[in-house]
Amino acid sequence: MEVALVGIGKIAVDQHVPAINGSPEWTLAATVSRHGVVEGVPAYTDFDTMLAERPDIRVVSLCLPPVPRFAYAAAALKAGRHVMLEKPPGATLSECHALEAMARANHLSLYATWHSREAEKVPAAKAWLAGKALRRFTVTWKEDVRRWHPGQEWIWQPGGIGVFDPGINALSIVTEILPDPIHLTAATLAFPENRQTPIAADLTFFHPGGAEVSAVFDWRQEGDQTWTIEAVTDSGTLTLLDGGARLIIDGAEQPAPDDAPLSGEYPRLYARMARLVESGGIDMDLSPLRHVADAFTLGRREIVPPFHWSV
Ligand code: NAP
Repeated sequence: MEVALVGIGKIAVDQHVPAINGSPEWTLAATVSRHGVVEGVPAYTDFDTMLAERPDIRVVSLCLPPVPRFAYAAAALKAGRHVMLEKPPGATLSECHALEAMARANHLSLYATWHSREAEKVPAAKAWLAGKALRRFTVTWKEDVRRWHPGQEWIWQPGGIGVFDPGINALSIVTEILPDPIHLTAATLAFPENRQTPIAADLTFFHPGGAEVSAVFDWRQEGDQTWTIEAVTDSGTLTLLDGGARLIIDGAEQPAPDDAPLSGEYPRLYARMARLVESGGIDMDLSPLRHVADAFTLGRREIVPPFHWSV
């Protein structure tokens, strides 16, 4: 299947291009980017031109930051293309609902990808938690923004969601593995005094079984990076480490599954997109973005020292 990749930046180069090139199901048929190119692949700088000149390309994968993404997704759907969205699937919930309605009306596939859900140990964590009574559930996502987002100004602009850009990865795992629905009850968001989006966030959730559910996201972490979820239940403790790559249950490291059909988060996303296109399916689970929107709605604002890229 031929795919056009739009927004040739960090994640397109790091993950999408290798995943597409490594898949027998996909061919990278074109790129669309104002500056970025992929060697050997026809490159367009204008999206409408690509859509008009390449009717053979049925699938468009959007790797742009969230704010410009809606206009590209809407144009692709209007032009009869199936669409794959990087996370978060949009800048607002409303625009994601609008895209889903367009896809349904035009019988096109639309996929809100959540790459962290494809981390190796997420299915095993979900299976272990099913049927257990939860007592405490703690998410700790602390990383160094200078290391992972060098020079990316959009993360600090309205709609760039700041520390929720990595935090939504945690929320995508949480909403996948927790058997019960949760909702936000309180949040504190720390905004650098010179920026529009938060650099840290503390979140508290309601859990129907009365468990304590909380999350802390922080972009100021130097040295060791932490992407951990700990679940204490009536029958043991689960710890997901390294963003879902490692799983420890009651102190014992869990081995890799024998039956994983593909290795890697992005190869699994592209395999899922191929199945959606085959079946005319839509996968638009917006629950991680809903929790982020709730945090911005309900969150208490705290002003912290200014953020500058150079220290
Ligand atoms: P990026 O490198 O800053 O941006 C990707 C590309 O989008 C840019 O190179 C730029 O290409 C294009 N672009 C930027 N602003 C644009 C605008 N206003 N209009 C049109 N095109 C624009 O960002 P990224 O890190 O790849 O992230 C993109 C998305 O992937 C985000 O939603 C992010 O959350 C997600 N993601 C990122 C990572 C990561 O590790 N970075 C991991 C997983 C998911 P041109 O200038 O060539 O047009």
